[in-house]
Amino acid sequence: MTILKFKEEMEPIIQQIDLTFINENVLCDSCLGRIFAKLGQGDTDAEGLTNDARGRAIHEMVELPSPASPSDCWLCEGIATDHPRMADLAISQMSDWEYDSFLVGSKFDPEIVEKEEMVWSQVSGEFSEPIKAEFNREVGKYIYSITKKDVEFNKPDIVAVIDTMYESVNLQIAPLFIYGRYTKTVRGIPQTRWPCRECLGKGCERCGQTGKMYQTSVEEIIGQHVIHYSDGNDHKFHGMGREDVDALMKGRGRPFVIEIKEPKTRNVPLDQIMKDIQDSNMGAGATEMRITNNDEVVKVKNARPEKQYIISGIIEGEFSEEKLKEVVVSLGGKIIEQRTPTRVKHRRADKIRKRQIKEISLLGLSGNIMSLAVTAEAGTYIKELVHGDDGRTQPSIAGELGVKVQIQELDVLEILDSKELGAE
Ligand SMILES: [Zn+2]
Ligand SMILES: [Zn+2]
Repeated sequence: MTILKFKEEMEPIIQQIDLTFINENVLCDSCLGRIFAKLGQGDTDAEGLTNDARGRAIHEMVELPSPASPSDCWLCEGIATDHPRMADLAISQMSDWEYDSFLVGSKFDPEIVEKEEMVWSQVSGEFSEPIKAEFNREVGKYIYSITKKDVEFNKPDIVAVIDTMYESVNLQIAPLFIYGRYTKTVRGIPQTRWPCRECLGKGCERCGQTGKMYQTSVEEIIGQHVIHYSDGNDHKFHGMGREDVDALMKGRGRPFVIEIKEPKTRNVPLDQIMKDIQDSNMGAGATEMRITNNDEVVKVKNARPEKQYIISGIIEGEFSEEKLKEVVVSLGGKIIEQRTPTRVKHRRADKIRKRQIKEISLLGLSGNIMSLAVTAEAGTYIKELVHGDDGRTQPSIAGELGVKVQIQELDVLEILDSKELGAE
């Protein structure tokens, strides 16, 4: 069917084309057919002709020489008929890795690319396909036929770049992305790896040759277990915001995506990983883990969820419980103005942010130690809401009470991300 269609479309065209150049520079069937690749195309890929079949059809239509062997082809020197061997080469390289999808890329001798352009200018370039596009597609088809792994253009697990000059394969392994929520049950653990400020990770006296400001992090506690099962070589951690090093992360935990570089195994036992993290008793836990992709990294990074906190502080100065309760009630629903806090001023632009306190309540008061529950918009500085930061946050608990407040502890109780709010 398609071969007839091709010949039909080809007939008027071949009459008008000067074939002198390909009479002198003999092409294999693939290279000949590729000049007219856009003719005789089927509706689906399976219906389409190969360029090889196109070349054979052209030979039936006009008198043209054929190379004695494929390697005598003036243009490709045999590459266009060597797809199965190149596919086998890629398959054997990829066999060390677990993958469900792949894509073939290639590198060609610049001389071949130049010769191809010569053909286009001397014969016709109107209907042609580059040799590289044909190679990538045909080798991909062979790999699929053997491995049954899918060719994937968008986010393949592996890209196999075949260098046709040196017959070598360079693999690009896509990272493995795992979504989850983490909790933190021990203070003094940062969310991500924190290299020593002094030596930037090399190891010095200050950090006791560890190269770290903190001995571990949520990232490392989770990452080491995922690395163990995926046999990856490094990790990167993307959290939906972060809490202070000295704050606990409670409730369902904070959403994150951990990225594992060059994983040998992609179908990792997530339940086992979560259990191992739990059993390691390092101060962090992970729940709700599932395999995801890098789109979710963007979502997690851009989310602006409300958060619930518990904060306790020591009130220094004269106050009455009644007045304190009054102040707390007055802040509920209030939009407060926060000038960039003194403690982060050195790394953030000095400006005034308006944030809404959604809910606030006094959980307890024992002597001059108070404990508050606060639900606030993303980006609210909670410590400053309580101690006032010398008037830089207006209004604040300390400011309204006319006292000073020393923060004791701040913990994140819940991250109210979109799913929980039912917005998604
Ligand atoms: Zn050829
Ligand atoms: Zn150091």
